[in-house]
Amino acid sequence: MSERQQNWAGNYTYNAVRLHRPATIEQVQELVSRCTKLRVLGSRHSFNGIADCDEDLISLEQLDQVVALDRERHMVTIEGGVRYGPLCQYLQREGYALHNLASLPHISVAGACATATHGSGDSNGNLATAVTALEFVNARGEMISLSRAEDGEQFQGAVVGLGGVGVITKLTLEVQPTFNMSQRVYENLPLTQLEDHFDEITSSAYSVSLFTDWQNESFNQVWVKRRVIDESAGAESPTFFGARPAPLDRHPIMTMSAENCTEQMGVSGSWYERMPHFRMGFTPSSGEELQSEYLLPRQYAIEAVHAVNRLRDHIVPILQISEIRTVATDTLWMSPCYQQPCVAIHFTWINDWLSVRQLLPLIEEELSPFQGRPHWGKLFTMPPPQVQALYKRMPDFQDLLRHYDPQGKFRNAFLESYIFGTD
Ligand SMILES: Cc1cc2nc3c(=O)[nH]c(=O)nc-3n(C[C@H](O)[C@H](O)[C@H](O)COP(=O)(O)OP(=O)(O)OC[C@H]3O[C@@H](n4cnc5c(N)ncnc54)[C@H](O)[C@@H]3O)c2cc1C
Repeated sequence: MSERQQNWAGNYTYNAVRLHRPATIEQVQELVSRCTKLRVLGSRHSFNGIADCDEDLISLEQLDQVVALDRERHMVTIEGGVRYGPLCQYLQREGYALHNLASLPHISVAGACATATHGSGDSNGNLATAVTALEFVNARGEMISLSRAEDGEQFQGAVVGLGGVGVITKLTLEVQPTFNMSQRVYENLPLTQLEDHFDEITSSAYSVSLFTDWQNESFNQVWVKRRVIDESAGAESPTFFGARPAPLDRHPIMTMSAENCTEQMGVSGSWYERMPHFRMGFTPSSGEELQSEYLLPRQYAIEAVHAVNRLRDHIVPILQISEIRTVATDTLWMSPCYQQPCVAIHFTWINDWLSVRQLLPLIEEELSPFQGRPHWGKLFTMPPPQVQALYKRMPDFQDLLRHYDPQGKFRNAFLESYIFGTD
């Protein structure tokens, strides 16, 4: 590469020396056969080196088409470079919706599923739980197809694959009939309310997100996203567990313009224009930031919030905003929510890695009694053996990677450390 490529946040510069942009699956196969070390880049929204390698990177941005919509089985098949934004618009035109979305529609579907990216909602599994089949090029350049219906455990291992099984060229996702949603932001939810009513609060709507800057014993904002079942339904309740409705649209970071955010104030709109916090075509989040997130079994939610709160004097000076969400249990081996519903505690930091790197071990230590698992695509400092011990299916996943990639062609420093423990 003439110039080193960076991730979206600009905090990570890829080590790879070449970037390829194949336009056909045959070209992908040919590249995989030819290269000795390579990884696929998604839309580069991860904050760490998970997508990197020292030699070759592939971007599937030219493979960005919807392949088929199966109206009988309610499934859509897409190419490996498709991003959520255009996919959502396509599905809406065809009368369909996805079950959930992350805070932003800018990310690629394959990249998001590879790291178990999630949205919020007690009944909503992470985005990878929508995958019913995938097609990828293994290390020998062969096409492999796996489906939930036919390949059982192998499939459950490959979906959150951390980029290690091969180059995902096609994904099939479950869809459902389109629906409308509305979102309302409430301000200043007392921490005591969360302590007393955690389950009621998180189950009060299709998707609920709580934002705090840890400066007071309260949550600055609660974003409540409801499915609109009946457009003529009566008014929503004026308060939400003691929190008051925001008088106008808000950005999760109070000082930032809400222009970048999806419409609020209870106005009904299509699912994909309410479920993410940020709008396609605008900068998501703050743009100048670092992110970390830990997912832990939801029964520890309140204890974990208290544990983080104990560190608030360290957190506040380098934090932009924190978000707390819930994610349903799933069966995907490398998902942090494997066989357990989770609560996710997220941190958007200022862009100061030295300070963040000093603080993360303290947070990880506080969350360790609750088996806090770091988000695969965000920043963490947990030692590799500790990460490995958090995943019951780690040995099976190692075997799966060895099966599709015996020579370690898709193994990068991230996988060597956190999966194989050899670095
Ligand atoms: C502003 C912002 C907001 C975010 N919000 C959320 C959120 O709400 N919820 C959440 O959970 N996360 C969130 N994230 C994190 C983000 O969703 C993940 O890091 C996600 O993995 C990024 O996807 P990507 O397409 O950018 O993939 P990349 O970061 O480019 O790659 C991620 C991994 O996917 C692999 N990969 C990508 N494409 C393929 C393919 N075709 N075949 C094989 N492997 C592939 C890569 O090799 C790598 O291992 C956010 C990140 C940012 C920057």
